[in-house]
Amino acid sequence: MRILISNDDGYFSPGIEALAAVARAFGEVTVVAPERDRSGASNSLTLDRPLSVRVAASGFLYMNGTPTDCVHVAITGLFDHKPDLVLSGINDGANMGDDTIYSGTVAAAMEGYLLGVPSIAFSLAQRGQEHLSTAASVAQDLLERLTRRPPPGPMLLNVNVPACPREALRGIRITRLGRRHMGEAVVRSTSPRGDTIYWIGPAGGAKEAGPGTDFHAVANGWASVTPLESDLTAYSLDPARDWLGIE
Ligand code: MN
Repeated sequence: MRILISNDDGYFSPGIEALAAVARAFGEVTVVAPERDRSGASNSLTLDRPLSVRVAASGFLYMNGTPTDCVHVAITGLFDHKPDLVLSGINDGANMGDDTIYSGTVAAAMEGYLLGVPSIAFSLAQRGQEHLSTAASVAQDLLERLTRRPPPGPMLLNVNVPACPREALRGIRITRLGRRHMGEAVVRSTSPRGDTIYWIGPAGGAKEAGPGTDFHAVANGWASVTPLESDLTAYSLDPARDWLGIE
């Protein structure tokens, strides 16, 4: 099995090293990741300049682009073969609920999925890398399942693992996305040259976090696996029909 790995934290992140170490037992691993932290890059592609690929001492490839660039280039031209599986992460911090819209970790996996490859995004639900090995063990568990029974077609899974010791993890649950409260206010400050500057504030807390959601699973000690789709259509079409008066 050929496994392509990327992330949004950069090729040097402990999370991508841990994920690559797990994946090597399951196939031929290639890492193509951003040269710097691109967390929050979402599904952006770099279209206004060319991209370069370099090799790190670790053997990992790194690019001056986004997570989506990395997976896109890796699948559409860097190599002469398509991977059987795309993995992304292990992200330093949660990607639950609305985070999935902004996440570069999820985006890297989504790019694999959009290009027809089963793809999984992994995140450790608390920043700081503590208990990264717990997330790695969940990745191993899922890869074992996937090896035993390959997915019937392209599939996109978003995995969040609570930052707890492995023995405290209760298991794995299939979940749906919850919702967050609105993000905290932007932080306004003044630059050394007197200009007003703005820092995007942190994400809001969990709002819709009841049973069945990713937030609920992780808060209760379960690893959360949310199957995602890229189709954003609101299938309840009638409210828009009624409002606009258009059939
Ligand atoms: Mn990140």
